[in-house]
Amino acid sequence: MKVVFTPSHVDHNPEFFVLAGQFSPSPECPDRVHRLISAINGAGYEVLPPKDRGLDAIGAVHPSDYLEFLQHGFTEWKILANRGPAIIPNTHPGRYMTRRPETIIGKAGYYMGDTACPILPGTWGAAVASAQTALTAANLVLNGAHEAYALCRPPGHHAYSDQAGGFCFLNNIAIASQEMRRRADRVAILDVDVHHGNGTQGIFYDREDILFCSLHGDPSGFYPYYAGYVDEKGAGKGLGYNLNIPLAPGTGDDAYMVALGVALEAIEAFKPEYLLISLGLDAQENDPLGILSITTNGFYRMGRMIGAVVQPTLIVQEGGYLCEEIEANLLAFLGGFEEAR
Ligand SMILES: [Zn+2]
Repeated sequence: MKVVFTPSHVDHNPEFFVLAGQFSPSPECPDRVHRLISAINGAGYEVLPPKDRGLDAIGAVHPSDYLEFLQHGFTEWKILANRGPAIIPNTHPGRYMTRRPETIIGKAGYYMGDTACPILPGTWGAAVASAQTALTAANLVLNGAHEAYALCRPPGHHAYSDQAGGFCFLNNIAIASQEMRRRADRVAILDVDVHHGNGTQGIFYDREDILFCSLHGDPSGFYPYYAGYVDEKGAGKGLGYNLNIPLAPGTGDDAYMVALGVALEAIEAFKPEYLLISLGLDAQENDPLGILSITTNGFYRMGRMIGAVVQPTLIVQEGGYLCEEIEANLLAFLGGFEEAR
């Protein structure tokens, strides 16, 4: 399996986010990916840099006003008096206001869902490089590779078409899925990050050509709180093409594999030409942001079950935070996946 990766993710290095009313160091830090790429190199995988494929594929998922905000917002932000080091909103439209203001603080609240996606001078470049990483790996699969792994940072699955959130700016797997749709009638996305892939769900909610399945911690007490429930099944033509499987806190390996089997059955019934995996490593029992209890052997079992799917598969890195097992979990997943191919 080829791996696509770029070190330019380090240009996005947020200092903090707000958690339960307190400033906390941002867990979405470059060291996560430093450790993952070291493990990939140590295991002997072939690593390729992304190719710059321009902004067309990104623009197929994200509208131009949102991309303009991500690219140029900091230029407006930096001339504010008494500003902080990063764009972080201090007000949001909530459920009752829908106007899009033209000034930077108003736009920040409009385009950013929470405080976990601060925009720094290097954020745009890093986010585009992360999307290009997913696109390059998608094109490896489109050109005949049976599988590829995009080691993306920043992650993407919490980003809606025009709203950042949860450490995510551009939805890498949505961009890759749309790219793969150019040469396929049906693609399926399976999201195994411990957090519901609310942005991906939102982007494809009314689509019948892209099946979205997510296994995640029960959102009634866990991020993203406002989406990820069983009764969200799609809308319009997309009704029946969105499958959420929320899991109780503490769910362990055996119960997880039963739920994964349900998702894989739905994917098999859909008959996609390509499968895309949002691979979070934060379902791990010791992950600092997680609530499930998956072991390293559990990641191996997940890899085996997913690798047994016959379709060409693109794996895209999402979350997974600093804990002792982070590298072992990645290698266990990829090792199990390759064994089953
Ligand atoms: Zn996550």
